[in-house]
Amino acid sequence: VTEPIHDAVLGRAAEFGDTNALVDGVNGTTVTYAQLDLFHRRIAASLAAAGLRKGDVLALHSPNTVAYPAVFYGATRAGATVTTVHPLATAEEFAKQLRDSSARWIVTVSPLLEFARRAAELVAGIEEIFVCDRADGHVSILDMLGRDAPEPDVAIDPSKDIAALPYSSGTTGVPKGVMLTHRSIATNLAQLRPLIPMGPGDRILAVLPFFHIYGLTALMNAPLRHGATVVVLPRFELDTFLAAIEKHRINCLYVAPPIVLALAKHPAVARYDLSSLEHIICSAAPLDAELAAACSQRLGLPPIGQAYGMTELSPGTHVVPLGAQNPPPGTVGKLIASTEMRLVSLDDPGKDVGVGEVGEIAIRGPQVMKGYLGRPDATADMIDADGWVHTGDVGRVDADGWLFVVDRVKELIKYKGFQVAPAELEALLLTHEGIADAAVIGVYDADGNEIPKAYVVRQPAAEDLTEEDVIAFVAGRVAPYKKIRRVEFIGGVPRAASGKILRRELRDRDRETT
Ligand code: ATP
Ligand code: MG
Repeated sequence: VTEPIHDAVLGRAAEFGDTNALVDGVNGTTVTYAQLDLFHRRIAASLAAAGLRKGDVLALHSPNTVAYPAVFYGATRAGATVTTVHPLATAEEFAKQLRDSSARWIVTVSPLLEFARRAAELVAGIEEIFVCDRADGHVSILDMLGRDAPEPDVAIDPSKDIAALPYSSGTTGVPKGVMLTHRSIATNLAQLRPLIPMGPGDRILAVLPFFHIYGLTALMNAPLRHGATVVVLPRFELDTFLAAIEKHRINCLYVAPPIVLALAKHPAVARYDLSSLEHIICSAAPLDAELAAACSQRLGLPPIGQAYGMTELSPGTHVVPLGAQNPPPGTVGKLIASTEMRLVSLDDPGKDVGVGEVGEIAIRGPQVMKGYLGRPDATADMIDADGWVHTGDVGRVDADGWLFVVDRVKELIKYKGFQVAPAELEALLLTHEGIADAAVIGVYDADGNEIPKAYVVRQPAAEDLTEEDVIAFVAGRVAPYKKIRRVEFIGGVPRAASGKILRRELRDRDRETT
């Protein structure tokens, strides 16, 4: 792949012309393919006229809107590197990302403007804050759309220049800026394409955030490259989400496990006509096979297909092909083309494990990041001298090449020498009808042994569920070393925007309360 990302995605925009590229799921605003193509060129021209130069970092700070893709591709066309910012970031978190990435430009939306202003005050070197809608004293992206200026003439080297600088989720530590070239992102799109062939006529709901690599790829780049229609929601709120599926006749949903949980269990689901749905694809965190089956059965759909990836891999490496006949339950899919995988022994890093055995997933391919910005040590920990990315995830493959992700190496609980995967216990807990949500971490008992502790959210009708009930429920279903040994009831499980359980926060909570 030798094109910059904006050309790779919008190369066929003229062909799709009057088809809606984007629809606002709340107010109905539409952007056609012809408009998207024109708008992003005009934004590129205006940004260049404002002084943006090749290699400048632009921070895109916005929930999902119909303007988001035009700003993203406009900025890359002007030669910028786009660092995508969590719309709920505090001013301090935002400032940290601005400083770390040496950003010079900010694009935000008026409801978030105060955060952007405060963040910009905390760092040096921000040239200008643009707003997508309107706010006094700021240039609006809307005004750029009507302005016919000459397009900037920037030469982009797709294999060297950084198109996107998303930050990893920060699930296991501080979020790190991941340098993704135009080529690595465009290559991954091409690799995933044959397995998930979305195109004209497909209607996709973008409820997962564009700022995260999963949303950026699956909900923005991939559908827009092939003429599908993306219906945009700014956040996940169950009723709005279900109403949008019904109203826009959504046929393809990309989700994370908490949404599968809601679709499988929530009574509100029955109030909507979801018969347009044809495919559900889930990624970003472990999804239990039983929960997945309960969800697809309830909706009368084929099995939910999983995908696996990480920010550092642009992001996807495994996916269950759309329409695959009987993929084994729980699999995250098969390896994509022009990519290699090894499973490295957890006991002896010099050895690989065979079929059916668990090991750390290592990946090599053209979609691997250039590195973490400004962190050569972290980069060297992640990518070895031979180009293998050591993912930190534990997996196994079966004889047919289907991959199963067990959990993260760092999250495995070592109970008296046995390894317990929190994801397995969480999945089991969710099968209890009195449990609305659950998370498991390893904590230490008085003797210094690591033991599994469950944080449990009760269903509204199950207020009498006790710690003993939970412990007995699990004990009856797992080998003795996997037993839950401590339970705490909480109001909600802390999760990142991508749906991942923030076990760090639970560990802090445990330290505070015991
Ligand atoms: P950080 O690296 O900052 O700690 P993070 O790893 O959560 O955060 P992401 O790049 O958003 O940041 O997430 C990638 C991780 O998500 C993978 O390493 C894996 O642990 C998990 N993951 C992705 N897809 C799946 C899946 N289908 N099943 C299980 N886990 C998954
Ligand atoms: Mg990670």
